Amino acid sequence: TITNLADFEKLAVLGHGNGGTVYKVFHKPTGAIYALKVLRFGEDIERVQQQSLNEMGILRRLDSDCVVMCHGVFENGFADIDGGGDLCFVMEYMEGGSLYDLLQRHHRLSEEAISGIARSVLEGLHYLHSMHIVHRDIKPSNLLINRKGKMKIADFGISRLVAGSDKQQCDSYMGTYAYMSPERIDPERWDGVYSDGFAGDVWSLGVVIMECFTGRFPLINPGEKPDWITLMYAICFEETWEMPETASAELQNFVRRCLVRDWRSRGTVEELLSHPFSTKFQHVAPQNLLCYSSCV
Ligand code: ADP
Ligand code: MG
Repeated sequence: TITNLADFEKLAVLGHGNGGTVYKVFHKPTGAIYALKVLRFGEDIERVQQQSLNEMGILRRLDSDCVVMCHGVFENGFADIDGGGDLCFVMEYMEGGSLYDLLQRHHRLSEEAISGIARSVLEGLHYLHSMHIVHRDIKPSNLLINRKGKMKIADFGISRLVAGSDKQQCDSYMGTYAYMSPERIDPERWDGVYSDGFAGDVWSLGVVIMECFTGRFPLINPGEKPDWITLMYAICFEETWEMPETASAELQNFVRRCLVRDWRSRGTVEELLSHPFSTKFQHVAPQNLLCYSSCV
């Protein structure tokens, strides 16, 4: 079991995100490989400390093959560097990389692959929601693939720690807000009825699924790097997200149910799990996502 951060050896950098870096690490006592996420807060650490302890209690109780497991959390694991102020999360290592990487390389995926992705994410959301956890940061880089080609959801709870941190990079706002639901951007708009947040994860899934089919972020024009206002306007008001007619009727309808602006009439996780698009390819062995991630 994982008791000591000193038992890990860093092998490589897997990626950078908001406020932190993810390393591929080797656990010397067992020989196992993990992913280690280090979030640096500096002086901000006091703000996140209590919050993170609450989150950790939750994370440790999670156990599902639809979500990327967190095996341990350490505070100030790198106190010798930068004077500390960090949180380290030991996570399951996902060899196949993220859906973001996959889309960078392949641009568009088959409907069969997309249906498998939709089902995996919905199963993960179903599990998280049953544990009263709203993910809040469903996006391609948080959907990871293991060596068997199974997709899982990563980083639940963690986005809350990072949000509001002054470590946030300026150009990361697209990644942070692009998948955000209208009710999170403008919570007042629905007659004073506030969402509990679960529907927001469904919205984000809809954006991700549309992106898998079209190969680009759907709410803005290709090549455009929109400012915050343009992005907010597109999410809250513009009619820019009809699926291309080349998509099957099931896929078009699936996305339409996810991207209902009024969260009260949006499809629920339960409804979408039995949606014809989710079940369409269930009788065939799911197309292995590894085929996209490794056999380039
Ligand atoms: P973001 O999700 O915004 O990209 P993160 O800090 O969460 O930022 O992750 C950075 C990158 O590290 C991800 O895009 C992904 O490619 C990689 N990564 C994160 N977690 C894991 C993991 N458990 N296994 C393998 N790669 C990971
Ligand atoms: Mg992430």
